[in-house]
Amino acid sequence: MRKKIVAGNWKMNMTTAEATALVNALKEDLANFRDVEVVLCPPFTALATVSELVHDTHLDLGAQNMHWAKNGAYTGEISAGMLRELYCHYVILGHSERRQYFGETDAIVNRKTQAALASSLHPIVCVGETLQEREAGKVEEVITTQVQGSLAGLSAKELLDSVIAYEPVWAIGTGKTATSDQAQEVHALIRQILTKAYDATVAQGVRIQYGGSVKPSNAKELFSMPDIDGGLIGGAALDAKSFIDIVRAAV
Ligand code: PEP
Repeated sequence: MRKKIVAGNWKMNMTTAEATALVNALKEDLANFRDVEVVLCPPFTALATVSELVHDTHLDLGAQNMHWAKNGAYTGEISAGMLRELYCHYVILGHSERRQYFGETDAIVNRKTQAALASSLHPIVCVGETLQEREAGKVEEVITTQVQGSLAGLSAKELLDSVIAYEPVWAIGTGKTATSDQAQEVHALIRQILTKAYDATVAQGVRIQYGGSVKPSNAKELFSMPDIDGGLIGGAALDAKSFIDIVRAAV
């Protein structure tokens, strides 16, 4: 039985003061909540603050990106070890905004994924097609390429330590959500790809989140689909009440 996981991707939002207010509001409701795994992914500058605020709760901490190298001359970058030092347990990798604006390829995402796992961080590996690709009937081809490329070389244990986030690019920050049937279809496809690459038991054990304009009003229906194991939430994660309602919809 896969435990549902809901992660909030705050993107480039929240000063440390704003982060403190948001986490304190979340803690009022979710500090002792165990039914769903809840991960907060603030920007790098708020990680230390949020880490302190959540250390005595069941809320978990994640980052939004990292470099694959352990250290060195990579100005502006952050390593897995630095994230671990702040008690981060998750890291989002290959988000479509990283792929689109920062040129991240499947090969880069794969190097980062391997590096995260080597440092005992759980990668949340994002995949998803653009609207153009969907309209051209290329969903299966694009998702297969991204899943195989981003997760290349992972052992079964490493795969089970990872989370996959299916985020159709056309649904991110647009208010357009995939219908629960559209999302379920791609989640089932991802499980089928993993069954071929590993086996059915491994594929059934991997958690696959849906992301793309998840709101309190659509979360329950999405999360009730058989292959959807929670959500990666952007805009709605910045508002305490919305995020709490989404987390509770995953029970
Ligand atoms: C995201 O950025 O991962 C995301 C799903 O954003 P939103 O919920 O705002 O569409």
